[in-house]
Amino acid sequence: MDKKQTIHWEHDYVVQVYRRPDFVLERGRGCTLYDSDGNAYLDMVAGIAVNALGYADPQLVALMREAATGLVHVSNLYHTAPHAKLAKLLTETSFADRVHYANSGAEANESAFKFARKYARTHFGEGKTDIVAFSGAFHGRLFGTLAATPREAYQAPFRPLMPGVRLATFNDINSAAETIDDQVAAVIVEPVQGEGGIHPAKVEFLQGLRDLCNRHQALLIFDEIQCGVGRTGYLWAHQGYGVTPDILTAAKPLAGGLPIGAVLVTEAVAAAMAPGDHGSTFAGGVFVTTVAEAIVRRISEPAFLQSVREKGEHFAARLRAIASPHIQEVRGRGLMLGVKLDMPATEVVQAGYQHGLLIVSAGKQVVRFVPPLIINKDEIDEAVDRFATILAQF
Ligand SMILES: *Cc1c(COP(=O)(O)O)cnc(C)c1O
Repeated sequence: MDKKQTIHWEHDYVVQVYRRPDFVLERGRGCTLYDSDGNAYLDMVAGIAVNALGYADPQLVALMREAATGLVHVSNLYHTAPHAKLAKLLTETSFADRVHYANSGAEANESAFKFARKYARTHFGEGKTDIVAFSGAFHGRLFGTLAATPREAYQAPFRPLMPGVRLATFNDINSAAETIDDQVAAVIVEPVQGEGGIHPAKVEFLQGLRDLCNRHQALLIFDEIQCGVGRTGYLWAHQGYGVTPDILTAAKPLAGGLPIGAVLVTEAVAAAMAPGDHGSTFAGGVFVTTVAEAIVRRISEPAFLQSVREKGEHFAARLRAIASPHIQEVRGRGLMLGVKLDMPATEVVQAGYQHGLLIVSAGKQVVRFVPPLIINKDEIDEAVDRFATILAQF
């Protein structure tokens, strides 16, 4: 199908909730994507922090081919080995004792909210049901998670949202202390905020939340859907902070591009859930968990994580060295970087298409870099050079 027809059909037959640029992506290799005209794009988006191993990774392709001849899906009514093996691996590489599967980030967070309410009800009776979230947070677009995603444009058309969500100010422990009380079942926070503009939490903030949750017997949920699975140079972002949650949610890169979500929990949280309390038709399917296990094994290698930290430092240093009056700040952790501009990020993102550079905004004035974790130094340098050239145009 040619490019014009794809774009027309897209326009005529798809619900228009995304504005897409006028090229059609066709194939990829490593950190590079190619459109139907053969133009190459250095990809700093990676499916929004999803394609951790880039495109056409030979090991991953071979594994998927083999897994496709297997069961693919059989229902959560039955035992399957990949489902169990991934859960064991995730607990061995984290604080968690047990894992629950979902199909996306928002679903993982909705599950976490249900777990928190069931835990609170089991141990403390009625009335302890509230969720505390923070300014700048993004936790998803379903009704519960949307209520915890305080962006007016996302929420306004869909009210009423799930009740019982309170808001406090990110990185402000006094605000958190004023908001968290004994009626709170859980506090949810991203150790590094993604969509909100790449804001790392301060260590004292996360530690303070841990203390407040302990004091008020609320569960601490780390949403590591974007910052988890190696993105910051630690398998789990909070491992770089030394603060441990009761529940962690993961999704985006966990199955190398296939849809998955996971909720990692302590035994105490898991013990509050009984058969019938929650479920999903697709979650934790054979094909997806087979792939996810391979991804987690690759990314959790100490040498792999070390390389992410080194490349992240190099990337941030190169971005900081750009002499542009448009750059106000470079921030982030590992290969999750944001450049705060004095101008709309979308203009720079648009210009990127002409320069063979895929970048994505995170809020109005922040350009985000979340490339495949397998990116090499030459590709980082090339991306920074192109970004500098683009900024110089404005
Ligand atoms: C993307 C994202 C979500 C939502 O994930 P979906 O798979 O799009 O539902 C939730 N939290 C964070 C931090 C995210 O980055």
